[in-house]
Amino acid sequence: MAEPIMCPYCGGTNLFQEDDYGIELDYEYWTIHHWDCLDCSESFDKIEVLPASSAFEESHESTIH
Ligand SMILES: [Zn+2]
Repeated sequence: MAEPIMCPYCGGTNLFQEDDYGIELDYEYWTIHHWDCLDCSESFDKIEVLPASSAFEESHESTIH
């Protein structure tokens, strides 16, 4: 999992991570990580983009007989 090293606003490391959520697009799958900084109350996101095909193949393989 991706972890931020520090808050991009104040450099603090007192971070609260909210639940990740995903957005499935036609060709990509986005996982959005969201943090709140407990030092300066700013929030920030990091988005991971995966090709949807690889995620699809992995889930598909387990169902092939
Ligand atoms: Zn901060």
